[in-house]
Amino acid sequence: MSHSAQPTASLYIDGRPVEGQGAALAVHYPYTGEVIATLHEASEAQVAAACAAAAKAQPAWAALRPVERGRVLLRAAALIRERGEELARLETLDTGKPIQETRVADWPSGADALEYFGGLAATITGQTIPLGGDFVYTIREPLGVCAGIGAWNYPSQIACWKAAPALVMGNAMVFKPSEETPLGALKLAEILAEAGLPAGVFNVVQGRGAVGAALVTDPRVAKVSLTGSVSTGQKVYAAAAEGMRHVTMELGGKSPLIVFDDASLEDAIGAAMLANFYSSGQICSNGTRVFVQDAILPRFLERLSERLAAVKIGDPLEDDTQHGPIVSAAQVDKIRAAIAQGKAEGARLVCGGPGEGAFVPPTVFADAGDDMFIAREEIFGPVMTVLRFATEDEVVARANATPYGLAAGVFTRDLARGHRVAAALEAGTTWINAYNLTPVEAPFGGVKLSGVGRENSAAAIEHYSQLKSVYVGMGAVDAPY
Ligand code: NAD
Repeated sequence: MSHSAQPTASLYIDGRPVEGQGAALAVHYPYTGEVIATLHEASEAQVAAACAAAAKAQPAWAALRPVERGRVLLRAAALIRERGEELARLETLDTGKPIQETRVADWPSGADALEYFGGLAATITGQTIPLGGDFVYTIREPLGVCAGIGAWNYPSQIACWKAAPALVMGNAMVFKPSEETPLGALKLAEILAEAGLPAGVFNVVQGRGAVGAALVTDPRVAKVSLTGSVSTGQKVYAAAAEGMRHVTMELGGKSPLIVFDDASLEDAIGAAMLANFYSSGQICSNGTRVFVQDAILPRFLERLSERLAAVKIGDPLEDDTQHGPIVSAAQVDKIRAAIAQGKAEGARLVCGGPGEGAFVPPTVFADAGDDMFIAREEIFGPVMTVLRFATEDEVVARANATPYGLAAGVFTRDLARGHRVAAALEAGTTWINAYNLTPVEAPFGGVKLSGVGRENSAAAIEHYSQLKSVYVGMGAVDAPY
């Protein structure tokens, strides 16, 4: 079967597909390496044109009744659900992730966001603040033009998570997907248009970092929401600061998953596998430092190895494939270098290893020290580092000894300990007896170097709006002159 996925055009500006005028951008299917589409980056003039289109369309969009904006999002969510299979296939071709994942996690969670914020639209209101006669009321206003910049691991989910709260608040958006996975955002633009979104409200530009940088500093852009690595986040945050732009930064992590010896072992192992190997380990919130308490460590490693031996690795378009290729050759090289460093620093390879071609199998290191590279740095691949611990105080201190703070998990049957540890962990999201579940109803985002702002939940609205206070004088003006 042909894997061609050539879109009508590379960009989507002012309600129309437009070909990019910049450098060529080959899109590879990670499993076979074949080129499935050739796109072109946006030129600087096209980035400016997209921002101009957004600025022009935004006031009329913001002037609609919120419930009408919400309806467009709800229609788009329904279209996504109708086309689930076609969209899952495209996401698999773009990312290499197993279709059993892209069917349930990627576009479906994007549709969840469109439904959630579509439904929320009509409930967003200001406040009235009584002052004994005089009063103040607040208006929650859109920011204007928002820039969205995405990573390659969940391209369509990221586009939806940013577009849904932005658009429902009456903003317009220019979105730049990752150069590795540019196809899903173009589909979202088409689907939103079909659902009735006016031209110019959601635009897509393509390109590498330089195109993202041009977008961030366009004078029309009032807010930048980035999903990416910490180093990119630092550059984008700094560039945004010059224009005092609002930011949301969804960045990387090195999250801890703590397994106490009273935990349900099978559940903890299942969660540790989800926390390290889903999407071939290319997930920002992954619990890649798995702290296991002394008494259960041998049994934990034994059962983990047994369960990993049964994982089906292979063709991501086959229904039963559980572990697919890595997104790009460059990322494969990075992961293999980290595995080599783990071995060189003396950690014990329990299973997995560098793999071949585009594949890195689920890999587990044990007997690792906290100072090793594999225990400190985000690898963004299927590499779990297991660390031994003895006491609660010790493990909490070690878990927090990182500059990152995206997520954390704790497995225990002791109710009080679960809540105590969850409270003590420095992370934006903490799971108790679960891992990597990110429902749209719950705020998601990092602390420390892992980011600022929150996506999902009603909290996201605050990051796509600003408050105006209107003071109403009801009596005579008391001037001392
Ligand atoms: P990346 O930082 O290399 O790129 C992210 C995006 O930023 C891409 O679209 C890229 O083109 C763009 N970019 C690069 N330089 C830029 C610049 N100077 N100005 C503006 N844009 C620029 O990240 P990646 O390799 O695509 O994704 C992996 C990283 O993303 C990991 O660190 C992962 O943890 C993180 N991530 C975080 C979340 C989250 O929600 N917290 C989700 C997914 C991925």
